[in-house]
Amino acid sequence: MRAMVLEKPGTPLKRVTLAIPEPTSTQILVQVEACGVCRTDLHIRDGELTQPHLPLILGHQIVGIVTKVGSEVKNFKAGDRIGVPWVGGCCNACEYCLSGRENLCDHGSFTGYQLQGGFAEYAVANESFCFSIPVEFSSLQAAPLLCGGLIGYRALRMSGEAKKLGFYGFGSSAHLMTQLAVYQGKSVYVFTRSGDEKTQAFAKQLGAIWAGSSDELPPVQLDAAIIFAPVGSLALAALKAVAKGGRVVCAGIHMSDIPSFPYSLLYGERMICSVTNLTRQDGKEFLELAPKVPIHSQINVYPLEKANQALDDLKQGKVNGSVVLRIKE
Ligand SMILES: [Zn+2]
Ligand SMILES: [Zn+2]
Repeated sequence: MRAMVLEKPGTPLKRVTLAIPEPTSTQILVQVEACGVCRTDLHIRDGELTQPHLPLILGHQIVGIVTKVGSEVKNFKAGDRIGVPWVGGCCNACEYCLSGRENLCDHGSFTGYQLQGGFAEYAVANESFCFSIPVEFSSLQAAPLLCGGLIGYRALRMSGEAKKLGFYGFGSSAHLMTQLAVYQGKSVYVFTRSGDEKTQAFAKQLGAIWAGSSDELPPVQLDAAIIFAPVGSLALAALKAVAKGGRVVCAGIHMSDIPSFPYSLLYGERMICSVTNLTRQDGKEFLELAPKVPIHSQINVYPLEKANQALDDLKQGKVNGSVVLRIKE
C-alpha cells in the first residue's frame, strides 16, 4: 500500500510502499477513502508532540470501507463504511475509564500518534473505537468531523449554557462548531488573526454575527469562549472578553505557553479549562447531531502524495475550512 510516513520529527513525510496490515482479533482493516488533516498532525510532524511511535503513519480522521474483520469483531462487517478518530484505545481499568472519562485514561493510545494512522491506503483500528458514518455525508465531507467535529463538540459542551460564545481561531473545528452553535440558538463571535478579512467573511457566511481580530474586544461581553488556535496568549484575550462567571475553554492538544497575567483577569469567577481528547459517547452524540444541522464541511482536497503540501498550507493559514486527503479515487 502507498503510505506517507514520518521517520524523524521535524522532517517531511516520506512516500513509501508498505505491506497491508493484518487486523488482530478485535481489530478491523479499513480501506481508507479519505483522511482529514488536523493541526495535531502538524504538531506531531514538527516535533511539538513528543511521543510518536516511529516510523509513523499520521492521520486520525479516517473514513473508509471495512475489508476484513478480526475473529472477535461483532459490530462491523466487510463493506461497512466507518470512521476512525484520534482516541484509538484505553485501558478500561483505570479510575478515569471506570468513571466515564476514558478521554483522560492513563494508558490511552492515539491514532496517527502511537497507533498507525490514515495517511495510507489501508489502516487497522480497534473496533470499539470506530463509528458508523451517517449516509448523509460523503467520505471526504465526513473526515473532518472525526476530530475537528468530535473534539470541537466536546469543547462546545464544556462551554456550558453560553448564549454568547466567542471562537478564537477559525479553522476546521471552529467552522464546523459555528454551524452547530447557530443551530443551537447561540450567537457566535469569531476572532481571527489581525486583518484576515477573508476568514472573517467566511465566518459570517457560516452564521457568526460578528467577526474581528483577536486583539479586539467583541461588541458585547461573552458568556464563554473557546480557543481553537494553539496560541497561549489568546487565553488572556478571551478572559478579557468574557463576562463575570464566564468560561474560557482551550480546545487544542498543543498550545504555546500562557503568559502570566494579573489575577483581576480571572477574578469574577471566570474559569479557564482545557479539553482533552474525546470519549466514544461524544462521538456517538455528535455523529447523530451532525446530519440534523446539517453540518457542511468546507473541504480543501489534496491527493495522498501531497500530504506535506497540505500540512504546510494548513500551517501557513492558506486554507479556509478543513483539509482532507483523497486516498481512494
Ligand atoms: Zn485532530
Ligand atoms: Zn484507563
